Amino acid sequence: MGFSSLILVSLALAALIATASAGPPYCEASNSTCFPPDTELAAFNKSVDGRLIKNKPYGLPCYKATYNAAACIEIAANKGNASWRVQQPAAVMYPIWENSGGDKGCPVPPLPANGSAPAPLEGNCTLGSVSPYIVNASCVDHIVNTVKVAAKYNLRLRIKNSGHDYFGRSSSQGALTIWTHYMSDTELIEDFKLCGSSQTRPVVSAGPGMDVEQLYAITGKYNYVSPGGYTPTVGVSGGFVLGGGTGPLGSIFGMGVDNVVQFEVVTADGKVKVANGCTNVDLFWALRGGGGAFGVVTRAYFKVYPAFDAVNTFFGQITCPDNASYANLISQMVDLQVPLRDAGQVGIWQAYGKQRAVTIISLHPLRSNATEDPSMAQKLYNPALGANRCNSTSKVAQFTGSSSWNDAYKAFILPIILKNGPVGINIFNLSRLVSYDLMKSKEKLQKVKEFIANLDPDISFLWQNDVGEASTKVAPDATSVHPDWRNAFAFVNIPVVWPWDGNANLGFSKSDRLMWSASKAFDTWTAYSNEDMNFERDFQQSFWGENYPRLIQIKEEVDPDLLFQCPSCVGSEATVRQ
Ligand SMILES: Cc1cc2nc3c(=O)[nH]c(=O)nc-3n(C[C@H](O)[C@H](O)[C@H](O)COP(=O)(O)OP(=O)(O)OC[C@H]3O[C@@H](n4cnc5c(N)ncnc54)[C@H](O)[C@@H]3O)c2cc1C
Repeated sequence: MGFSSLILVSLALAALIATASAGPPYCEASNSTCFPPDTELAAFNKSVDGRLIKNKPYGLPCYKATYNAAACIEIAANKGNASWRVQQPAAVMYPIWENSGGDKGCPVPPLPANGSAPAPLEGNCTLGSVSPYIVNASCVDHIVNTVKVAAKYNLRLRIKNSGHDYFGRSSSQGALTIWTHYMSDTELIEDFKLCGSSQTRPVVSAGPGMDVEQLYAITGKYNYVSPGGYTPTVGVSGGFVLGGGTGPLGSIFGMGVDNVVQFEVVTADGKVKVANGCTNVDLFWALRGGGGAFGVVTRAYFKVYPAFDAVNTFFGQITCPDNASYANLISQMVDLQVPLRDAGQVGIWQAYGKQRAVTIISLHPLRSNATEDPSMAQKLYNPALGANRCNSTSKVAQFTGSSSWNDAYKAFILPIILKNGPVGINIFNLSRLVSYDLMKSKEKLQKVKEFIANLDPDISFLWQNDVGEASTKVAPDATSVHPDWRNAFAFVNIPVVWPWDGNANLGFSKSDRLMWSASKAFDTWTAYSNEDMNFERDFQQSFWGENYPRLIQIKEEVDPDLLFQCPSCVGSEATVRQ
């Protein structure tokens, strides 16, 4: 962000804080002097049809005072299961955001290898960073009434959908949370009228809880395709699209924000608004990249495209015997990225220093008259598959017909993602964008290769070919995502994980060091606002760049009292605590 932009942001922020009649410090559930009394809570619960839940830690059965062996086995067995976690009112995907250090929280151990019950845990099992109250919303009125009560009492308000957030945005100590997961209806509308145009187009209309698996299923059913992510349980019309939305089809159709044509949203004044290219235009712009700081999305409308005729898939696994051969493999992989893209391949690859291994998911969606033998991918990947002294295995498949994308997703992508994308662990997940400029510079690519090959062996590395081509055709200020996305070829993640009962400081110090070395290697501090960490040096610049001043101005207009706040979100400078 330039100096003048910085001044603009500072002025806007000062105005935001000065004009706020409520906002921080928020009233938390433990404060009986400001929190709604029981009679009020009962009336509120009635207004949401009895769907207010008083949360309790799901790990209680694993602790000595409340031990129940059978229940503890079930929890320990499921703690790494995203489908189980999304259903728990008191869970998010990563326990670090349920626990707030010391004895605040209720961490659960993994299931012992022999399947027996974990031994009863000593210590206190508390709510930690989990919201004490959560409304399991099933209609827009429930959300309106929750927003109104939160505004009236100046409550700390949070929004939770699937709980996949990497920053702890969907949980907070003392908060009242709106839970949208079960508002997941989907409908295919063939003739949706685009605002400001006489034209119609097919769209998926989705409740805020629709996830990736549902998006692919409904589009496949009606002979369409629409860009979503990799992980089935990630909420497409929630955090995914609000923060950008990346996935395997991003270089073909653009990012999530490029494919949403309208939102319905409950704003801080408790009103239900439509935001699109003609109505509430600023809000529409802010919602396409600015995250969950502007209101609660209650419906989103996504473009769909004619289905592919076929999808070719490739899975590869390459393991090397020593550091030198592994470094050579990494070099081959980096050099392959441009030719692979030119050949229409999309997907991701992951490098594991400990095993000196690389795994690859590669896809080639095909349109009519573009036929290609699926074994073509093997030829393209040959330099890596045949890397000196390394062993490789690979397999290819082809899915045909109008539901080929959904079929490929279910049969090919899903099993690999479920095996390799663990949840229920402690994680910080650094990201950096890979620019087209970097891809053109041999010298810079050399630094990238060295960075990946020399990572601490315990740290894996993920290269996501989820943007480029189509996403670069969109103007840098057309949506509120960081303008650098419009010159991004790909992006990378470098996750740091630590044990269930380990200290977050360990994760912090490793990730903090990585942040500097990755920024140097990738020649940028720009990161994905949905996949990063709370301790970026300048999160406003890293996530939104030149678009941040306008985001702050819109925040001031639509949420002057800072009702919607979350860590590393727009306007969170003024609210600080997660
Ligand atoms: C295992 C894993 C895989 C992932 N894969 C991908 C991927 O392939 N592509 C990709 O782009 N991202 C991916 N992500 C990142 C993902 O997009 C973000 O974590 C995103 O925030 C998830 O949104 P959610 O609504 O599902 O999660 P939640 O944690 O429930 O929500 C996160 C935040 O989004 C906001 N939010 C959610 N719903 C609403 C709403 N209705 N109205 C207003 N604000 C709302 C709130 O601020 C909320 O706190 C992945 C994350 C994980 C953990």
